[in-house]
Amino acid sequence: MPLLAIVLLWVRLVERRSLASIGMAGPNLVQRFLHGHLVGVLSILGIVAAMALAGGLVPAATGSTSAPSNAWASRRSTLLPALLRRLGLLLLLCGLLLAAPLRAAELLHTHAGDASVRAPLAIAPVDDAWRAALPHDAKLATQAYLDRLPKEAVQRSNAYDEGGYWLQLWEVLIGLLIAGLLLQGRRTARLRDWAQRVGRYALLRDGLYGGVYGLVAGLLLLPLGFYKDYWREHGYGMSTQTAADWWAEWSVGLGIEVVGTALAVAVLYAVFRRAGERWWLWGAAACSALLAFMLLVSPVLIDPLFNTYKPLEPGPVRSAVLTMAHATGVPADEVYAFDASRQTKRVSANVSGLGATAAIRLNDNLLNRTSLPEIRAVMAHELGHYVLNHGPKMLMQFGLLILFGLLFCNGAMRRLFARFGPRWGTQSVADVASLPLLSAVFAVFMLLATPVFNTIIRTQEIEADRFGLHLARDPHGFAEVMLKLSDYRKADPGAVEEFVFFHHPSARHRIHDAMRWREAMGTP
Ligand SMILES: [Zn+2]
Repeated sequence: MPLLAIVLLWVRLVERRSLASIGMAGPNLVQRFLHGHLVGVLSILGIVAAMALAGGLVPAATGSTSAPSNAWASRRSTLLPALLRRLGLLLLLCGLLLAAPLRAAELLHTHAGDASVRAPLAIAPVDDAWRAALPHDAKLATQAYLDRLPKEAVQRSNAYDEGGYWLQLWEVLIGLLIAGLLLQGRRTARLRDWAQRVGRYALLRDGLYGGVYGLVAGLLLLPLGFYKDYWREHGYGMSTQTAADWWAEWSVGLGIEVVGTALAVAVLYAVFRRAGERWWLWGAAACSALLAFMLLVSPVLIDPLFNTYKPLEPGPVRSAVLTMAHATGVPADEVYAFDASRQTKRVSANVSGLGATAAIRLNDNLLNRTSLPEIRAVMAHELGHYVLNHGPKMLMQFGLLILFGLLFCNGAMRRLFARFGPRWGTQSVADVASLPLLSAVFAVFMLLATPVFNTIIRTQEIEADRFGLHLARDPHGFAEVMLKLSDYRKADPGAVEEFVFFHHPSARHRIHDAMRWREAMGTP
């Protein structure tokens, strides 16, 4: 919120532009605003309702001093209401799961009538004569490229990106609310006590707590996730998924989240306990190790759960990509294509993984929607990430960011424990019951660090762009594909807006880099 206010003020007062120029005014504003915020508000209400229903979900620890017969008697008297509450919660969730796709299908149906929202807006193709006639001045040439974007397409992708800024904020707010509700009424302490009764070893107990926490957070974030990843994507004509496919993928994703959170929590709390006062230092090291592990295994274990990866058939695309790979010393003898078109219309590619798991991969939208020069431009950029060692560098930079984040948590949590600890039933970082507090405080830090986080990524993207231009030596192919990426990215944001919110440089920035290369090298 403060970030957004600063951006708005900057645009109005310093850059002296109208709010409409950054999509903050106009006929659809109220509608857009309501869509996103309604879901945010409804999510929060839903979470409060679910929490109220689940109040008795985790039975309070019966003190070990009480006699067994008493414990049984008290348990029997609370068993029925607890069961009824559980049943109510289950019914509520089932209703939500069943109703949402139906409601969405209905909304999409009415939405589909609005052709300007749904129909893909084609960018008029140009020929070599148009390119040759472009002014040599990089600024003018960049403007000529940007002028080819249809006005409606620009409005749509601006609205899409700006809605995304708000969604980031809602995500953090809902995360804070989840933490607050878990801490209040000692729910988190009761969950920890339950895990301690069930699990035999510390690792297992923390893992159990982590698994349940991952499940609760995943379910409570569902409404926002559904809006963001399904309803909104369809509204902007970006998604190709049916509701059934979306739900299937969401379930797989939730499963991965539960298992991943359980493992990560087990490892992290084992480290926190042993590290004592220096938990933030060793914690940052452990987080970095977990992040590296994730980068290493996700291309092999997780990505294939959502898409099919196949080696590209021999042909001009494969040989063009491999030629560039071999020219820059990238040890690859395959290029993989994956079926992203079953989820989205977005064009994308990557060189993912670390070390032995690294692979060159491009999606079928790139193959189907772009020409060979454009594919070469994209893949030269991706090879740049590999050659410039961006993976390991980013790990180190993120490791440092996590270190600062945990230091921030250390200071903030000390104060919060002193004030509220007794009420929450958790008073130490090494206690797994304080996980909701840790993730809430860390989320606040990451919100404040949004510009730093985005700048780390954006800097690498600019480097890869420049590397790619040298390798592919086709600034027009690069500029052309940047226009196509403007489907889902705001092409021409303000300077501060780009600094705060953009993890990739804007199309204007990237096309200007290409046109500067063209101007300096004197190519047509
Ligand atoms: Zn990149």
